[in-house]
Amino acid sequence: MKYKRILLKLSGEALMGGRQYGIDPARLKEYATEIKQVVEKGVEVAIVIGGGNIFRGVAGASNGMDRVQGDYMGMLATVINSLALQSALEEERVFTRLQTAITMEAIAEPFIRRRAVRHLEKGRVVIFGAGTGNPYFTTDSAAVLRAIEINADVILKGTRVDGIYTADPEKDKNAVKFDNITFEEVMNKGLKVMDMTAFTLSQENELPIIVFDMNKKGNLLKVVSGDNVGTTVNL
Ligand code: UDP
Repeated sequence: MKYKRILLKLSGEALMGGRQYGIDPARLKEYATEIKQVVEKGVEVAIVIGGGNIFRGVAGASNGMDRVQGDYMGMLATVINSLALQSALEEERVFTRLQTAITMEAIAEPFIRRRAVRHLEKGRVVIFGAGTGNPYFTTDSAAVLRAIEINADVILKGTRVDGIYTADPEKDKNAVKFDNITFEEVMNKGLKVMDMTAFTLSQENELPIIVFDMNKKGNLLKVVSGDNVGTTVNL
């Protein structure tokens, strides 16, 4: 395996599958199976999952809700998704721990970096819930932050497109995919990989990002093996 410790970032929307809202159990099971495959290869896996399928802070704010209040609702949404994923992984007999940035003792451990690393060393999948615990951030930022904290080799951003293109491939059929691209090129070309806060945090800490299609069976294992799947953003 090319990577020994990974941080997998999944968007909340990905969990919707074909639905308009919430969680699609079939999609959840597929993800659990994909994750299990890499765990079985001895790869240490940490996961951050978004909450956009349930609630987005900015959406609340645009409807007149207090932004900070909305952001906390968004963070709680990520905990709901984290619990769902934890349950799906355990169904596949993968050992897991959930740690949250906002303490909720009855359902998860608090985030403790050393403890998270210990879990990883023991082969447990660690899910980080509640984002960074702060409003005005995204789960992409949480993913990069946790990845740096646990010394992950790479951040894997699972999406529904298979990489970074010269233009939005869902809108422009002449768009061409990059296999490799530098952080600087992404900036100069104005491409969107993550929000700027997350992106620059990754760049400053020399943490490569791989954007890949998580919905294609076997792709996660391929990425972790070092196969040429998706787009790698590097220094
Ligand atoms: N959020 C936040 N701080 C964080 C992470 C998330 O306030 O550190 C809130 C924010 O309101 C965001 C929502 O949680 O809109 C859901 O997260 P995100 O949009 O990143 O999820 P995704 O789009 O990946 O599903």
